[in-house]
Amino acid sequence: MIDCSDDILTGLSEQHLLKRPDGFMLHKDIAQPFTALCIAAKTEGIEITLVSAFRSYQRQAAIWQAKLAGKRPVYAQDGQAIDINSLTGKAKLDAVLLYSALPGASRHHWGTDLDVYDAAAVPPDYKPQLEPAEYGEDGPFYRLQQWLSAYAADFGFFLPYREFQGGVAAEPWHISYQPLASAYLANFNSTLLRQCLTQHPVAEQQLVLTHLDAIFQRYVANICLAAP
Ligand SMILES: [Zn+2]
Repeated sequence: MIDCSDDILTGLSEQHLLKRPDGFMLHKDIAQPFTALCIAAKTEGIEITLVSAFRSYQRQAAIWQAKLAGKRPVYAQDGQAIDINSLTGKAKLDAVLLYSALPGASRHHWGTDLDVYDAAAVPPDYKPQLEPAEYGEDGPFYRLQQWLSAYAADFGFFLPYREFQGGVAAEPWHISYQPLASAYLANFNSTLLRQCLTQHPVAEQQLVLTHLDAIFQRYVANICLAAP
């Protein structure tokens, strides 16, 4: 029985998590499959390394606020920086939502979703930018991306943002542990998200609530499904 409590779904609980020695927190039930994934990749010379794992509601709210305030860069899909202050209304939200989830609606809240790169493909001081070019054919993480496409499913993982389909941009670095994440998504809806945001207001609160059902459909429910 998977605990799909409201607080777990919206990033307000840390009870389901395990803290790794490197400080990253992830769902206690994915520690084992993630280790298995890393060991298998290592036999191919790929060193799967975490950039991001669990993220709390508060952390996501801080990112959200900073991006809407123009204090953190906001990028278009072509990598160009966007002047967030030149946008108004829903266009402003859409610009941020391309790469950053609404607080309460990030898959990183669940502890089942991870951003990864290949540490064996770059010098030790390399800082992964999580940009599409790094994972493209000429990028250092192309082999990782190819390997994940072929083998992640053997370990229960899939790429919910494998390709752009009108919501979140393609994120070839973002993997998700399907058995748990599917259960969480099945139990998640815009009513629950609305309750959460009403209790824990975020930047552009009114605008967000006005467009919440559309945001949920376009950015939360709209993922690339795991291969059957
Ligand atoms: Zn991610």
